[in-house]
Amino acid sequence: MGAPSYAEKILLNRSDPTARGKDYALELPAAHRGPRSPARFKEYSLVTSPTFAELGVAEPLLRALVAENYLNPTPIQSQAIAPLLAGRDLLGIAQTGTGKTAAFALPILQHLAAKPEQPGPRGVRALILAPTRELAIQISQSFRTYGRHLHIRGAVVIGGLGMHGQSQALSRGVDVLVATPGRLLDHLKSGNVRLDKVKHLVLDEADRMLDMGFIRDVRKIVAAVPRERQTLLFSATMPTDVARLAADIMRDPLRVEVTPKVVTVEAVDQRVFFVEAKQKPALLARLLGDQRLGRVIVFTRTKHGANRVAERLARDGVSSEAIHGNKSQGARQRALEAFRTGRARVLVATDIAARGIDVDGVTHVINFELPNEPESYVHRIGRTARAGAKGIALAFCAPDERAYLRDIEKLTRRPLLVESYEPLPAQPAPEQRGGQRPAQHTHMAPHRPAQPRQGRNRSRSRRGR
Ligand code: AMP
Repeated sequence: MGAPSYAEKILLNRSDPTARGKDYALELPAAHRGPRSPARFKEYSLVTSPTFAELGVAEPLLRALVAENYLNPTPIQSQAIAPLLAGRDLLGIAQTGTGKTAAFALPILQHLAAKPEQPGPRGVRALILAPTRELAIQISQSFRTYGRHLHIRGAVVIGGLGMHGQSQALSRGVDVLVATPGRLLDHLKSGNVRLDKVKHLVLDEADRMLDMGFIRDVRKIVAAVPRERQTLLFSATMPTDVARLAADIMRDPLRVEVTPKVVTVEAVDQRVFFVEAKQKPALLARLLGDQRLGRVIVFTRTKHGANRVAERLARDGVSSEAIHGNKSQGARQRALEAFRTGRARVLVATDIAARGIDVDGVTHVINFELPNEPESYVHRIGRTARAGAKGIALAFCAPDERAYLRDIEKLTRRPLLVESYEPLPAQPAPEQRGGQRPAQHTHMAPHRPAQPRQGRNRSRSRRGR
């Protein structure tokens, strides 16, 4: 037998309980390892994560990933894909936004394609349960996207739509069925679907599913699935009832946890500017005129947004680097290095690209655009206030982002302090290129007390903190 492949090494590492939490970069040959200082080590592991091919993902899936511009696996993908391809059960502690859908969809698609069996009339080969209609639709779209070069038949079964169309879709049998529990049970009772051919079972967002009162439905569905199967359970949190369910339905599951380090949201001074979208670049430029914003990460929602911000900063003479999914690994590595060493004062990043960045001494996180997933906001602001430092997170909220802000405040249970921003009549062109512009007056000075906004947003401001 030859030396184990990279994917096998990960598997060996993972199957060793004492190795849990160890970084897979440890498995790299010594010559490729970075220096051992913790910060560098983490950065190094970000840019040297194994490729999808090294994890064992097959060619037709790789082609789909290239089309989607997935350059590197996210941490949960790096840890879960090889063991799932080897057939293990998996307990994934991960939130939306971590790439967990691809982490389970890719191995399942690969298993299904490797054994092209017929599910038979009304049969199902892989069953994915999700708490909400939106999530179910999203998952089924992901399966379609990743499996576009395979011959995979899929269906979605969710409440709120007619039973008839769904039972028609199920009648010939499907490879992948994504369903919400209540509606699936209705179909099961009506004999529209059989689960005796299910080989792969996924419970996604199990904690939410139980929160929504689906526990009995879930257990009934699991009971209708053969014992001989691969079972995956994903949950952002692990309350006792989820842990109990996991223990009941899985066999020696691999546990993969990618929840961010507990973010001490309390340690971050969080503020929001209510600002028109078109005023955001001017606000950013004005804030960066303050040299106390020494090491800054600016988050955008999209890659184009990140490029636009970086271009604008370059015009304003602010040293910055952008990292996002369209950049090559080498370019990302160089950008990170420039930021880490202080050559670039600002790092402009999208959520996925920023995952895993661990740079000390980030003074400010600026949410140039609010994330549509509130969890991403928590990840973002966790980049500042590391190692006991007091960090500052500033959010730019345009009128059409108010709903995102509401979700964030619901999640963090902490209203953001409202900062005032008086737009300038016009942003003067910077006079000095290559240097920083002189500080302009702004109300945002981090150490000042907040200026509560008048009117509708008044209730948001926290007073007497
Ligand atoms: P999920 O946590 O599965 O909801 O995924 C969050 C988002 O990340 C989705 O928009 C995916 O399309 C995207 N995504 C997942 N994996 C990757 C990857 N390896 N590279 C880039 N984007 C990804």
